[in-house]
Amino acid sequence: MHPSTVSAPPVMPGVVDSVLDLIGETPVVRLRRIAPPSGAQVLVKLEGRNPGGSAKDRPALALVRDAEASGALRPGAPIVESTSGNTGIGLALVGRLTGHPVVIVHGGTMSPEKLALLRLHGAELVEADWTAGPENPDNPRAVADRIAAERGGWRSQQYDNPSNPGAHYRFTGPEIWRQTGGAITHLVAGIGTGGTISGTGRYLREVSEDRVRVIGANPAGSTYGGGPADVIRVEGVGTTWPASHWPKNLDRGVPHEIRTLADDVAFGTVRRLAEEESILVGPSSGLAVGVALEIAADLDERHVVLAVAPDSATNYLTELSR
Ligand code: PMP
Repeated sequence: MHPSTVSAPPVMPGVVDSVLDLIGETPVVRLRRIAPPSGAQVLVKLEGRNPGGSAKDRPALALVRDAEASGALRPGAPIVESTSGNTGIGLALVGRLTGHPVVIVHGGTMSPEKLALLRLHGAELVEADWTAGPENPDNPRAVADRIAAERGGWRSQQYDNPSNPGAHYRFTGPEIWRQTGGAITHLVAGIGTGGTISGTGRYLREVSEDRVRVIGANPAGSTYGGGPADVIRVEGVGTTWPASHWPKNLDRGVPHEIRTLADDVAFGTVRRLAEEESILVGPSSGLAVGVALEIAADLDERHVVLAVAPDSATNYLTELSR
């Protein structure tokens, strides 16, 4: 017998079995050139390094795994979701590798890059009307409900399903605590479904015995900041719905504060990150880092402010390269 057939398989510590194993453990980088003179550190967690390109890979995997385990998602059944993009990309990636077709209902406002990625990940795309209010049958969530009912599909319900903040509580929060050696004093995250801020923020508040302060970053035009609803230019965050219809996954007890940032500051921060730090991120990352810089300006060297950057500039090349 050839010796290789009887010896143990070689140990390959740098090899994983599927890209699902590459979700999470994203890097954190310190800002050096655009850090404020106050001496407070500003850190950015690069969620764009996930295999589907965003923080939403984490909840996508948890949503599917939990639903398979509970029996809510049967083998081979379709996954149906209304999303501005990243959750859809995460679900399409996870669905393909776990044997589920994926239908994504979008509001017609998604970047061409995200649409192209969804197609490459094999998702079926359905366009609905994002301007239609909560009671209107043409709004994306209502359309997704209808398609799921017609096809025996499973609605991942990312706005209400506890698996979404659960993924951030189990993974994103502990990662940040470990990566910063417990030195983080402020967490800044944008609010879309609320999953990131509620799960990560809750973990960090608990583990730090409430020493970590949690700040929500809100785009102009979104009602999360208390202002009136208007056009939201930053993709993936904010809501135009009244507080009575805010997602269950936004645990309003977690953020200490929600700060609204003007669009020119959010988009300007995307440019500064690229030009001065060679960090290429999307608009909602500019929003979170912009708020982090504002907060850090009023602190001192004892403080460590970490902003979650949900995705990278590759999702918005057309818009950002104009
Ligand atoms: N930024 C982008 C680009 C996103 O796609 C999302 C998810 N909607 C968020 C931020 C907000 O994350 P969350 O849904 O966890 O609040």
